[in-house]
Amino acid sequence: MTSLEEELRAIIEAEGPMPVSRYMALCLGHPRHGYYATRDPLGVAGDFTTAPEISQMFGELIGLWCAEAWRGMRAPARVRLVELGPGRGTLMHDVLRAAKLVPAFEQALEVHLVETSPVLAALQRDKLAGADVPIAWHESAAGLPAGPLVVIANEFVDALPIDRFVKTAGGWREQRVGIAKEKLAFGLHPAPLAGFDESLPTRLRRAPEGSMLERRDIAPLREIAKRIAAATGTALVVDYGHRRTSFGDTLQAVRAHEFADPLENPGLADLSAHVDFEALAALAKEEGLRVRGPITQGVFLRRLGIEPRAERLKRDADASVRNDIDAALARLVGASPRHMGELFKVISLAHAALPIEPGFDSA
Ligand code: SAH
Repeated sequence: MTSLEEELRAIIEAEGPMPVSRYMALCLGHPRHGYYATRDPLGVAGDFTTAPEISQMFGELIGLWCAEAWRGMRAPARVRLVELGPGRGTLMHDVLRAAKLVPAFEQALEVHLVETSPVLAALQRDKLAGADVPIAWHESAAGLPAGPLVVIANEFVDALPIDRFVKTAGGWREQRVGIAKEKLAFGLHPAPLAGFDESLPTRLRRAPEGSMLERRDIAPLREIAKRIAAATGTALVVDYGHRRTSFGDTLQAVRAHEFADPLENPGLADLSAHVDFEALAALAKEEGLRVRGPITQGVFLRRLGIEPRAERLKRDADASVRNDIDAALARLVGASPRHMGELFKVISLAHAALPIEPGFDSA
């Protein structure tokens, strides 16, 4: 049994079954035994790979996107480039290299990284040690300074904890993590939730029994949206998920690039769940922002010119590197389930007065 499982069982024995969000938050963020708190999960040797780790093209194109977004804000002399959940710092490293192509943008930059994991923050420090712009770290978005913002978040929202609800004959009930037959097990809170059906979009009301709904507290994005509304700015969120709120069980555990049981070996596997882009868009609109997308990652990267960029990189490469570039391109924009092009979506949440950013023209 993992040390975290011992602790989880002690909590459950003392307080009763816990909400899924608390379980997920402890698995990922427990200061001593949490998944992100204790390791670098990324890359071939880790548990999963993300777009910036697949190819430099991803970060370079996003870097140019950020420069265009800044121009759209009428090129303020100071802009805070914020990244939520920067992982190994690879995306920011590639973004800053691309920023060098727009010197006035680079000169305006102040980078702010929002990261809870001390292990990953240390890797980010190493990776970005040679950067020519000031960089600051924050444990939450609440610590960010005021002023114009360009925000990027890749595979950040999927790691924010979710709660889960199940429709039963007696109404909607909350799923909890308890103990059954000596093991951690999902169960349902006995009391049905009053008013839950009415809180759903009309098309999802009167769902069949057994339907599951997942809900996420996206407080960090709310914080960002408020700051964008107050000053100016835009946020680009890239993640895997669905366009509209829908039913389904999407909580997944991944370990060594394989799916695992989310209740087994807590703290040793990554936990994430699909992003509900409709909920994200609704939050941004509530804060008065203009929402564009979601569009698929494949469409977005193609519109930003990933194909000519791949051709350009291949020109100076030998045969094996050319193959790698082709494979990376396919993985980023391809439509099959093994690829990220369709499953991953991109949305922009911007101050209502700003022009549409590149990639979203007809979104
Ligand atoms: N964006 C990176 C890493 C994705 S992994 C990439 O694309 O490679 C998720 C990242 O979010 C990690 O850096 C993790 O430590 C961070 N993270 C998870 N929950 C967080 C939270 N609540 N606040 C800040 N960072 C968080």
